Amino acid sequence: MRRKIVAGNWKMNTNVAEGVSLAKDVVAKLNEVPQDVNLIIAPPFTHLVSVAEAIKGSKVALSAQNCADEVKGAYTGEVAVSMLQSAGCTYTILGHSERRQYYGETSEKLVKKMRLALEAGISPIFCVGEMKEERLANKHFDVVEAQIKEVLFELSAAEVANVVIAYEPVWAIGTGLTATAEQAQEIHAFIRKVVADKFGAKVADDMSILYGGSCKPSNAKELFACKDIDGGLIGGAALKAEDFIAIAQSY
Ligand code: PEP
Repeated sequence: MRRKIVAGNWKMNTNVAEGVSLAKDVVAKLNEVPQDVNLIIAPPFTHLVSVAEAIKGSKVALSAQNCADEVKGAYTGEVAVSMLQSAGCTYTILGHSERRQYYGETSEKLVKKMRLALEAGISPIFCVGEMKEERLANKHFDVVEAQIKEVLFELSAAEVANVVIAYEPVWAIGTGLTATAEQAQEIHAFIRKVVADKFGAKVADDMSILYGGSCKPSNAKELFACKDIDGGLIGGAALKAEDFIAIAQSY
């Protein structure tokens, strides 16, 4: 079944104590969030175990921001999916544009990461989205379709059923610019169609597709009202519990 999801990507922000305190603030406000809205937080790796403890017993789920493309061994600096699982993660963000842009994340690597995460029972929040020049050249549909084909199409329908997609136009991430509800709805519907054409209507209908890119309390309502937008992947506004909860209340 398609689920409403509000996920917070903390990126490389907060120290462990600040992260635990933010997680506790989110948990303390959960009674303000509609029952059917699922909350996920994605702190840095160093915080996972402590944040898992802080959210224990609540409905907030834990996500990583990345994972290794190998199972274990001599890969200095990497974090394996089994480690994420043992830290309490049930999700991991994969293919975020910052990883694609600054760390050379390729579709080939992402296929490996997606498979490993899914095998470990961790649902990937798979990010796609075009750059500003691509949007201006009207290439956004092609770019997003290629990102989906290169990664998701390598997986089975059963695997894809456990994937959440986040559409994040790169020009809207951290810039204060947001896609209009019309722009976002148009491409979310397109993404659902690409998934439906390959994996069938049921997988596509059941898939949660989140919008990301300067989503905040003032614009979340309009975005979440769109038929094919099932919530948000939130960066900056997830660092303040009130804003993150206010976004979750926008449904
Ligand atoms: C993100 O990077 O996933 C994101 C959506 O960031 P922001 O909300 O800050 O634009």
